[in-house]
Amino acid sequence: MRFDVMTLFPDMIRTVTESSIIGRAAKSGIIEINIHNIRDYSDNKHRKVDDTPYGGGMGMLMTVQPIVDCYKSFSKKLPVNRRVVYVSPKGSVFNHKKAMELSQYDSVVILCGHYEGIDERVKTLIVDEEISIGDFVLTGGELPASIIIDAVSRLIPGVLSDAVCYEDESIASGLLEYPQYTKPAVAEGLEVPSVLLKGNHNDITKWRREMALQETLRHRPDLLKGDILTKEDILFLESLKG
Ligand code: SAM
Repeated sequence: MRFDVMTLFPDMIRTVTESSIIGRAAKSGIIEINIHNIRDYSDNKHRKVDDTPYGGGMGMLMTVQPIVDCYKSFSKKLPVNRRVVYVSPKGSVFNHKKAMELSQYDSVVILCGHYEGIDERVKTLIVDEEISIGDFVLTGGELPASIIIDAVSRLIPGVLSDAVCYEDESIASGLLEYPQYTKPAVAEGLEVPSVLLKGNHNDITKWRREMALQETLRHRPDLLKGDILTKEDILFLESLKG
C-alpha cells in the first residue's frame, strides 16, 4: 500500500511515519510513505503558497498552482486503484469503517490544508473525498493525515503481527475492549481480577465478553445494537440494569 502526503510541514508527518510500528512497516516495505513538500512546487520567486481570499475575510488560503503541480509530479506513478483525500473539518467523520474502506485501495493520497484551508478549485481538480477527524478545528491537516495513515496501515496484512490484534480491539470488534492487566498480580495494593489468574480459558472468555459489554454500556451505549449481541449478552446487559 502506498501513501503520498502533500503538506507544507513534512517534518510533522515524518515524526509519526518514521516511528514505532508504522516506521517499521515502512522500513520493511509493507507500506510506502512518500511526503511531498507543496512549497517546492511554487512557481513564485519567494516560494509563496497562499494568498488572500476573494471577497475579503480573515486569513490566507493555499493557492491552486503549487498543490496541483505537486500532485502532477507523482500522480502518473500511482496505481489506478487510488483515492485522493483532502483532510478537512467539512468532510465526513473518520471511523473504523472508513479506515477499512481506504485500506482496500493500492494508493491513498492525502492533501493537508493549512491557514484558512485551500482554494475550492483544488477539490474539483484532484480531490475524490474530504475526511474530517472530528468536530473541532485544527491549525493544519498534518495530524489528521498522520491519524489516517496510522489507522489504515494497521489494517494492512503484515503491519501488525496478526489480524486478530485489531479484530479483537475496541470498535473493530463491535464493542469496546474488556479491561486488561499485566504483571505484577498486585500493584499499589490493587489486585488483578482472580479469574485471569486461574487459567480457565472458558471462564476468561466469558468474563472478557461481560466486561466488554459493561464497558460499552458505560461509555458507548450507541454501539450496543442488535446484530452483534447474543441472547446471553442481552441477558447479561439486562442483569446490569436490574
Ligand atoms: N477554514 C476552514 C473551515 O472553516 O472549514 C478550516 C481551516 S483549518 C484552520 C486548516 C486546515 O486544517 C484545513 O484545511 C484542514 O486540512 C485541517 N483541519 C483542521 N481541522 C480538521 C479536522 N477536524 N479534520 C481534518 N482536517 C482538519
